[in-house]
Amino acid sequence: MKEVLLLKYGELILKGANRAYFENMMLRDLRRRVAEYGRFEISKSQSTVFVEPADESADIDGALEACKKIFGIVSICRAAACEKSMDAIISTVKEYIPPFLEGYRTFKADARRSDKRFPMTSPKIACEVGAAVLESVPRIKVDVNSPEIVVMIEVRDTYAYIHAGKIPGAGGMPAGSSGRGLLLLSGGIDSPVAGYMMAKRGVEIEALHFESFPYTSERAREKVFELARILSEYTSGIKVHVISLTKIQEELKRHCEEDYFTLLLRRYMMVLAEMTANRFNCRALITGESLGQVASQTMQAIAVTNEAVKIPVFRPAIGMDKEEIVQVARKIGTFETSILPFEDCCTVFTPKHPRTRPELEKVLAEENKLDFNALVNEAFDSLYTVKIGLE
Ligand code: ATP
Ligand code: MG
Repeated sequence: MKEVLLLKYGELILKGANRAYFENMMLRDLRRRVAEYGRFEISKSQSTVFVEPADESADIDGALEACKKIFGIVSICRAAACEKSMDAIISTVKEYIPPFLEGYRTFKADARRSDKRFPMTSPKIACEVGAAVLESVPRIKVDVNSPEIVVMIEVRDTYAYIHAGKIPGAGGMPAGSSGRGLLLLSGGIDSPVAGYMMAKRGVEIEALHFESFPYTSERAREKVFELARILSEYTSGIKVHVISLTKIQEELKRHCEEDYFTLLLRRYMMVLAEMTANRFNCRALITGESLGQVASQTMQAIAVTNEAVKIPVFRPAIGMDKEEIVQVARKIGTFETSILPFEDCCTVFTPKHPRTRPELEKVLAEENKLDFNALVNEAFDSLYTVKIGLE
């Protein structure tokens, strides 16, 4: 039996004249992603995209898993395609549908007929299909008002498609449709979640990681690459830029007041991130900050770090509780990696009493004890890039 995937897009279709632009972005992403699972034909009609295996090599289970991670798709149906005759439809329903109904108590059959030449009306098709389902799964009951699952027949141009139950898609906007952003990616729980949230809104993500060798280890770096790899399942690849903060941290430790270390370091990080964004054409920074979570994330502290740059900074987790962030981290598969206990550059030389209500003037006075620009330029020279999931 020929199986296909029917992908439905949601918010996308609201985009009026820009619709084609968003659709094409999504299709481009889709083509690239399913190609890893063999040859598929991809076509669209109304607001449904069809993913059809083109030959025996096509792995539809793999393609389905990949499709679940493509932003812009709200739901996915795995469907059987059959010849457009009532006999073929009924026998396909009997053979294909029962496993999908396992665990459900009530259903209804529904039909849509975009090919109006098909000799039966939709209600009539639904009625016959409903009867066929009851024959092959006698324990299930019909509930037309609030069925637990809907058995759907779609009679389209070439085939009739038969499916039951929708699989939720990733939602959001197609990859890259909102421009490119630079994610400040640490090894923690929050920043991968922040990257995922912005990717979901159509932002193409590049990542920037700061390390502080030898205070941070090879394993800490590998952990960050692994987080980027998990994120890349949603973004079709990701570039990770790495900059060393070792010298800056040593200079801060040597010359500046300890209570200000973290804030000063964060200003260096923001400026280096802005430089990186400019070099790689990213139009915003993205961080995993959450208001009040740590001393450097109070309103005053954020004001002080934000002041160092002009570029917009997106902080999608700002209003989330840790528990909520953890939930997303688990859903996207980064949590288990994030909690591996490796040091981050922010956790070396941390002050015992970090300032939670810093005054900008005092911070600038501390900052001026060092040659900020020289240190920044030297650190920027250490930048190197690793491509993950990209040619
Ligand atoms: P996370 O769980 O994302 O590490 P956090 O709660 O530990 O966040 P901080 O360490 O204060 O918070 O970092 C705040 C944000 O700054 C992070 O979410 C991340 O965007 C960025 N950041 C922190 N450390 C690094 C790093 N080593 N490299 C790149 N970005 C970093
Ligand atoms: Mg951190």
